Amino acid sequence: MDTTANSALFPTYSKYPINLVKGEGTRLWDDKGREYLDFMSGLAACNLGHVPGKVKKRLQEQLERVWHVSNLFQIPDQEKLAQMLAAHSCADLVFFCNSGAEANEAAIKCARRYHQRVLKNGRFEIITFEKSFHGRTLATLTATGQDKVKDGFFPLPEGFAYAPYNDIRAVRDLITDKTAAVMLELVQGESGVHPAECEFVTGLSELCKENGLLLIVDEVQTGLGRTGKLFAYEHYGIEPDIVTLAKGLASGFPIGAMMGKQKLRDAFSAGSHASTFGGAPLASAAGLATLETMLEERLFERAERMGAYAIQRLTDQLRRYSVIQAVRGLGLLIGIECREPVAPIICELQRHGLLVLPGGSHVIRFMPSLYVSKEEIDRAVDIICTVLISSGFFV
Ligand SMILES: *Cc1c(COP(=O)(O)O)cnc(C)c1O
Repeated sequence: MDTTANSALFPTYSKYPINLVKGEGTRLWDDKGREYLDFMSGLAACNLGHVPGKVKKRLQEQLERVWHVSNLFQIPDQEKLAQMLAAHSCADLVFFCNSGAEANEAAIKCARRYHQRVLKNGRFEIITFEKSFHGRTLATLTATGQDKVKDGFFPLPEGFAYAPYNDIRAVRDLITDKTAAVMLELVQGESGVHPAECEFVTGLSELCKENGLLLIVDEVQTGLGRTGKLFAYEHYGIEPDIVTLAKGLASGFPIGAMMGKQKLRDAFSAGSHASTFGGAPLASAAGLATLETMLEERLFERAERMGAYAIQRLTDQLRRYSVIQAVRGLGLLIGIECREPVAPIICELQRHGLLVLPGGSHVIRFMPSLYVSKEEIDRAVDIICTVLISSGFFV
């Protein structure tokens, strides 16, 4: 299989030469029948593991009825999913779209319009953070605090300023009479699993209240149980004005959501923002079944327990390898920081049947399904040890 030169796809990905054809729980199989332990969960989308039964059943039922009608009509599952998200979060209202970038794009638009049309103060600027990741649309890659995603895409939209993460004073210094909001991830996932410090987040929440700024929390990766709470903001005892979701919301079926407080309702009116596919019947059915399962089985608690076990186990077993710099994380969003670039280690782990994801150049991201068992965690840690020993230069 030629994955590069003769491909009809734009070369936006450097794809692994593996064709995964079947999944069940935390396991995947390729077209040659090889089994893999999946500790990347389709980039943190498959929080319930692969092909979760209840979601599959609801999707099959909806497939038989109707697939798409547009948001000009009632979509009962979409309303139910919004009600359920509101009931279990600090938000009151939800806008559905199809991806994390779109959810953040909606958040940026909502923040600007709230200030410009509701408060009528003309504010537009959004403070974000270095090493953040918010998506690949023009506005969200501009919000992203990493130069690599901006290369060659100039000119970028105006209205963003960047502070170092965990530095409250730097944020205070960036606030002007044009500042509308602060947007952050509570665990910076893509750049290598960096959790925000508690005092920083509570301080930020206070600072936003004092200055009339909206606090936007990007939970595209941390949301829906991944960190050991339904939403990562619960760890910090704060209530953001806007929370964005996508990855884990429908078990791998595309959906995104921007959730916001009641006061933001009038930021939007009919026709001011829209999405053709957002929250369509199939996506909403998958989202509803996913959230119901998550809440009925209290899977976020399981993520908290298994995450603590995994961090302990990784710390104990990997301590003796000099290549390992640190193990850190929240729930089942875990980073193993190495002193070497991790790309070759990741390929070697694949050959040993373990799928993991890089976070930045030096971090291995460890994010299995929330159903992962202790035995599966033990097996994954054993594979990492085997690879570190057999490849010699990492010891
Ligand atoms: C993945 C991710 C996004 C982008 O989501 P897409 O669905 O790829 O657009 C945005 N923010 C965070 C924190 C992410 O992890």
